[in-house]
Amino acid sequence: MKQAGRLSAAVLREVGARVEPGVSTYELDRFAEEYIRDNGGIPTFKGYGGFPGTICASVNEEVVHGFPSKKRVLKEGDVISIDVGATVDGWAGDNAWTFPVGKVAPEVKRLLDVTEECLWAAIEMARAGKRLGDIGSACQRVAKAAGFGVVREFTGHGIGRQMHEEPSVPNYGHRHLGRKLRSGMVLAIEPMITMGSPRVVIAENGWLVTTADKKPAAHFEKTVAITEEGPALISVEPTRRRPVGGANY
Ligand code: MG
Repeated sequence: MKQAGRLSAAVLREVGARVEPGVSTYELDRFAEEYIRDNGGIPTFKGYGGFPGTICASVNEEVVHGFPSKKRVLKEGDVISIDVGATVDGWAGDNAWTFPVGKVAPEVKRLLDVTEECLWAAIEMARAGKRLGDIGSACQRVAKAAGFGVVREFTGHGIGRQMHEEPSVPNYGHRHLGRKLRSGMVLAIEPMITMGSPRVVIAENGWLVTTADKKPAAHFEKTVAITEEGPALISVEPTRRRPVGGANY
């Protein structure tokens, strides 16, 4: 799983480096697929439930599951959540990051910072003996304190040979409640946070999720193993619990 996690992190880093005004989400997707295949992996999302791309590219009010498109050209001030998974030797990795396109409004920057903070607070709770509710409530507390909304319709998930395995990992909940976490579990933890109302609308085909009030959303995700020593990020270098410099991976 470390190999799948590292490749997932590497492709996310490389795609993120190509985010700039004038680039289409289709171009980002093409790059991502090539990068994964060139490095010995299989794009986990492609064909998953009929998903057409290697990345989910969700811009501004789009929360998750955006289809890459030639028509979606990024412009200054946008934010884009890129969610990408790679499968290596039958094991899946999954991670996401929301990137600013050029300079974004201060409130949007704050949304990104807070959502990343939600991710780290949640990961901190991914420890043997804690419960799923500890992860969710840690995320929820950070979002609430900032005045932002937590999307409830979609959650993180267990991950292994399949991208989506038991258990669901909600980004809300109550401390001390829910399934107990054990060493050896691997979870994809992925806060989806909205600037306004947490209400979302789902497209008729079941894919694209947008905020009901059309305000921006952010989404950050990492694959995390629960070990005897605590949470271990496996969609980054394994020795570094939290990347130096904050908004990085
Ligand atoms: Mg995921």
